[in-house]
Amino acid sequence: MKPSFYDLNYSDLETIINTHNFNSSASRILFNWYYKKKQNTPCPDISKSALAFFEQNYDFYLPEIDTVYQSEKDRTVKFLFKLKDNHKVETVLIPFNNKYSICLSSQVGCAMNCSFCFTGEQGLKRNLTTSEIMGQFLQAWRWLASNRAGEERILNIVFMGQGEPLHNFDAVKKACEIFLSQYGTSIGVQKITISTAGYIPGLKRWSEEIPRVNLALSLHSPFAEKRNELIPINKKYPLEEVLTYIDQVPLNKKQFITYEYILIKDFNDSADDAEKLGNLLAGKSAYINIIPFNPYPGSRYQRPNLDTVENFKAILDTFKIPTLIRGVKGDDVLAACGQLNSL
Ligand code: SF4
Repeated sequence: MKPSFYDLNYSDLETIINTHNFNSSASRILFNWYYKKKQNTPCPDISKSALAFFEQNYDFYLPEIDTVYQSEKDRTVKFLFKLKDNHKVETVLIPFNNKYSICLSSQVGCAMNCSFCFTGEQGLKRNLTTSEIMGQFLQAWRWLASNRAGEERILNIVFMGQGEPLHNFDAVKKACEIFLSQYGTSIGVQKITISTAGYIPGLKRWSEEIPRVNLALSLHSPFAEKRNELIPINKKYPLEEVLTYIDQVPLNKKQFITYEYILIKDFNDSADDAEKLGNLLAGKSAYINIIPFNPYPGSRYQRPNLDTVENFKAILDTFKIPTLIRGVKGDDVLAACGQLNSL
């Protein structure tokens, strides 16, 4: 089987170009063609010999769009992608002012088994490759260009779809490098966020290898017992250890860690929960995202009412931690946080 062209970062490509004595500008031209211009035809601007070499030796296949779900409430789009081996993953375009954030999947299913998440019920089937991650982005961009012309502006990349991105670090890191490359999509480092349930081996690699890429930690409860129920890997990598690790990572001046908090009715939405959370995060370079729980078929939890959500935020405000209540988008097509499932 041929390797995928979309598994190559810029330095891999340069090595290949140099090894085969092609004109050194070919790497820049190829990245520009496939990532900046987002073309899906053979690149006409490199030498015939280089073109023949890449056609013979590299696979340019990308995951196919199987189904598109468009929200009727807002302009959220959810894609079900079919991979070469018939596994499927979901990807979401989240609209803001005629622009989009893209929520990418990093694994088929997930091993973390979080109890509030539809993906967790799938179990882990396998890791995605870099090409399958890049494919979600490129195919979603092309869908926008064909179906919402003029709106093909994907300005934020969030690894918050299916899978624990830090559990598939190599492929995710390479995808980040391609997104960041000035010859590729050239997306600013502050526009890329990796979300984690608190997988410490992956956190170590993030802090050593791509620390400028933003991090979001799924916190969801400051109490060990509740967090154990929500995020079972808390038993192996307890929140205190995760926070201690994150606290010693030097951040850029403008960088902060986002702490995600799924607010669940009568489970983690009391004043006591908010106080404990505020005390835990006060004084950190933190930003809290409150996400009212999004139900899915068979889910065991419920969304709290708006008053409860606002009271929770009001308590956090007293700790002077920037806190946002995340608006619900795409829940009518099961595209909101925690609702992805591709079985
Ligand atoms: S919340 Fe994230 S880490 Fe947890 S099961 Fe779902 S996809 Fe996996």
